[in-house]
Amino acid sequence: MSNDDDRPDDGRSGAEPGRLRGAWRALVGDRGGESYSRNTFVSVSRTGEHPQAALIGQLIGGLPNPTIVLDRDARVIAFNSAAATVVPALRAGEPALITLRMPELVDAIRRAGKRREPQRVEFFQRVPHDRWFEAFVTPVRLNGRGEGAADILIMTFNDLTPLRRVEEMRADFIANASHELRTPLAALLGFIETLQGPARNDTAAREKFLAIMQQQAARMARLIDDLLSLSRIELNAHLQPSTPLDLAPIVRQVADGLQTLARDRQVEIKMSVPAEPLTVRGDRDEMIRALENLVENALKYGAAGKRVDITLSRAQTRAGQPEARIAVRDYGPGIAPEHLPRLTERFYRVDVADSRAQGGTGLGLALVKHALNRHAGRVTIESTPGQGATFIMHLPLPTSISGQSE
Ligand code: ADP
Repeated sequence: MSNDDDRPDDGRSGAEPGRLRGAWRALVGDRGGESYSRNTFVSVSRTGEHPQAALIGQLIGGLPNPTIVLDRDARVIAFNSAAATVVPALRAGEPALITLRMPELVDAIRRAGKRREPQRVEFFQRVPHDRWFEAFVTPVRLNGRGEGAADILIMTFNDLTPLRRVEEMRADFIANASHELRTPLAALLGFIETLQGPARNDTAAREKFLAIMQQQAARMARLIDDLLSLSRIELNAHLQPSTPLDLAPIVRQVADGLQTLARDRQVEIKMSVPAEPLTVRGDRDEMIRALENLVENALKYGAAGKRVDITLSRAQTRAGQPEARIAVRDYGPGIAPEHLPRLTERFYRVDVADSRAQGGTGLGLALVKHALNRHAGRVTIESTPGQGATFIMHLPLPTSISGQSE
């Protein structure tokens, strides 16, 4: 065994044990192994007094990532506060292989020590809550001379949970979108087969089936349209529109455009628009689309109330900032409170069959939310079951724009 292979705390390593012990005592005092390095908590081992424990503690104390340092026997020399949140049972001076319950991590520590090569592992933690981590275990030789066993193992962790969530959301989204498209597609294929086979010469059946096929094809087209709009809005999410836009003509245009649907549903649209222009910075097409979605929903799901109010007004946010509000109120069945927080999620519906029967795609409110986010605005929903629902678009009124459109 070469001199370099000897234990670093036997006084023969390149470090100066006396000075380092002094530094360590200054850091941890006589009370024990916990200390504060500037404003970061760090726990340092006293057991076995690794000669560079204090230095190591100071180094990792300032790191933002969870970091644990082990000696060559896999005892914890030091760890920072971020590491304590990943492994709450960690104790300086104790064997890590017992404290770290994750088998993947224990294997990686063993491999890193044996092979003297950095190891990377991913592991999943259920307690205190579901989290994904990747861990790097890096063997380090502190005196840096020649070949030999590592003096310490540095373990760092990255929280992969946000990344995993995005991946899951993407996978869910694709599964939902495919499912939504597959349903009308299956209907179309079924009717085509029937028309080619048993109903080949049945004129009445042909007319009926063709009408259904047209409906299903239209549903697919709407879905693709909504998906494309959503991805366009998301692509531009960081670009806040800058064109001045007076909201009163938008409200009038949407109300006029939906008169036919309102008549079909026997609903009266009442509109209230102030005399003064309310000018925001906005994308005209996106605002029209968002408001159309809200009014269409009110006409579809709230038709029983026979009336829909669209109100444009100037108001103030809680923080006292001026904002424009467009409220769409219906007097239909309303929405139970447990659904309200989830309504703007893609493909979320209170009643899937009802939404499909109304030609819905489940993407309308997600589009509204994303469009408003891009405008630095937001959508709020209020509802008392049995008394209808109110959807409000909030848009900031920039103080730099005068009342008139530029
Ligand atoms: P959809 O295409 O299904 O209409 P949306 O995202 O526009 O999708 O709406 C999501 C769900 O919210 C609808 O399926 C419906 O259950 C519910 N909803 C939306 N607006 C209203 C309303 N005015 N009254 C009652 N329920 C509503």
